[in-house]
Amino acid sequence: MGTPPSGHERGPLVPYGWDPGWESLFAPLGEQGLAPARVILEHTHIYTLMTERGEALARVSGRFRHRARERQEFPAVGDWVAYRWEEDGRRARIHGVLPRRSRFSRKTAGLTTDEQIVAANIDTVFIVMGCDDDFNPRRLERYLVLSSESGAEPVVLLNKADKVPDAPEKQRETERLAARGAPVHLTSARTGQGLDALESFLVAGRTIALLGSSGVGKSTIINRLVGREMLRTAEVRESDSRGRHTTRHRQLVLLPGGAMVIDTPGMRELQLWDASEGVSETFEDIEALAPACRFRDCRHRAEPGCAVRAAVERGELPAGRLAHYLKLQEERREFEKKVKGKRQKRD
Ligand code: GDP
Ligand code: ZN
Repeated sequence: MGTPPSGHERGPLVPYGWDPGWESLFAPLGEQGLAPARVILEHTHIYTLMTERGEALARVSGRFRHRARERQEFPAVGDWVAYRWEEDGRRARIHGVLPRRSRFSRKTAGLTTDEQIVAANIDTVFIVMGCDDDFNPRRLERYLVLSSESGAEPVVLLNKADKVPDAPEKQRETERLAARGAPVHLTSARTGQGLDALESFLVAGRTIALLGSSGVGKSTIINRLVGREMLRTAEVRESDSRGRHTTRHRQLVLLPGGAMVIDTPGMRELQLWDASEGVSETFEDIEALAPACRFRDCRHRAEPGCAVRAAVERGELPAGRLAHYLKLQEERREFEKKVKGKRQKRD
């Protein structure tokens, strides 16, 4: 087969987000005769890759499997991987995963605390919450924590704006919560209100994903965005029967308009993962008060001279917000204990 010259035939990967940053990370692997591809679908142990020659099925190499110590090292949807063709020239072997720019992960089911990556290299995450009964500031905080941990840029969509009379007030409340600068958009996937404004995030080569409880309208929003794009494609491809097959199930879908949407089952049921950094970033108002507590290791529960509780008593900090912060801290400590126990057993 011979060694491909570096930078060869990357053109077909550009619509999937390949850029000079990935190219320079990949360069040493290219010198070993490997080629880059993006994971667009994950089955159990089998992946569908988008390669420069189109879609191909792939497995990880035996060497990769033996060296990988943690589940998170295995490829996930959205990852850029380094592969080589198998002898049949049709199937691919994955030899490595490029470092992720962002990743969403969850604890695997059961007693272990293995981290499983559910999606990688998402640029923008739409956190979808309903203006109706679904509206829940505590849950939104949780999603903001997750997003800030992931490395993706969060955008809040307050959906079902058509269902309630007080949507603008909810938007203002949400803007206060997303104080770190996540934009808040009021939308209705039913009437189409506010969806045009999302186009500025649907830039060619960029990858988005949606987070939010079941029933808030994620599928409807995706269909709206995809539907609009597919309408355009149908016009272009009137005489081309392939235009009809664009709905084939893929977890990473390329919109003809240029952006990509990742929609995996895992993204739909995310749990809080070790969100230590994210917790401090999203609760910076609480962490800013903490240095004024009498005790340096104050846990803001019953300690005398606690500046955080004092702020609650003065009505400057909602009690529910502090309770949520304490709960997240607790979960984090539990998690760290588990991980430490596990590492000690292993080493
Ligand atoms: P998902 O579970 O987040 O994917 O939610 P779906 O997209 O399946 O939507 C759940 C239900 O809410 C469906 O019956 C939708 O038609 C409805 N729905 C979604 N968006 C809106 C909206 O903006 N307004 C109203 N009134 N209903 C909506
Ligand atoms: Zn305190």
